[in-house]
Amino acid sequence: MHKSTKSCDIPMSVKKRVWERDDHRCVICGTTYTAAPNAHYIPRSHLGLGIEQNIVTLCLACHCDFDNSAKRQYYKVLIKRYLMMKYPDWDESKLTYKKFDALQTYHELSDKGKADVDNYIQLTFKEEHKHE
Ligand SMILES: [Zn+2]
Repeated sequence: MHKSTKSCDIPMSVKKRVWERDDHRCVICGTTYTAAPNAHYIPRSHLGLGIEQNIVTLCLACHCDFDNSAKRQYYKVLIKRYLMMKYPDWDESKLTYKKFDALQTYHELSDKGKADVDNYIQLTFKEEHKHE
C-alpha cells in the first residue's frame, strides 16, 4: 500500500479515542443511532490524516450529507468549530500528509547516508503528537 494512503487510514486507537471524545454521538445532530468515529474533516482524497484532530463521529445520514451534499460547507464549519473547541491548538494545516516535507528530509537524510523516508514520517508523526 502506498504510504500516503496508509497515513490517511484511521488506526483503531484513534477511532477509540474519537468515539470516547465524542461521547458515542454524531457531532452534527447528536444521535447515537448509526454513529461511527470514521469521518475525515479533511478527506482522504485530499491527504487528510487519520488522526484525532481530523476525525469525528458522524451518524450515517450526516456522514452521507457531509460527503455528497450541498450541506458540506455548513457541516465543515460545524465540525471545525467542534474540533477547535476540543483542541485549543488545533491547526488545519497540520491535518494533511506532507509529501513535500518528507521528500525534503529524504534528501537531508541521504546526505548522512541514512535515507529512510518511512522512518522519518513515523518519527515526525510521533513528535507532532506526543503532547496528546
Ligand atoms: Zn448525525
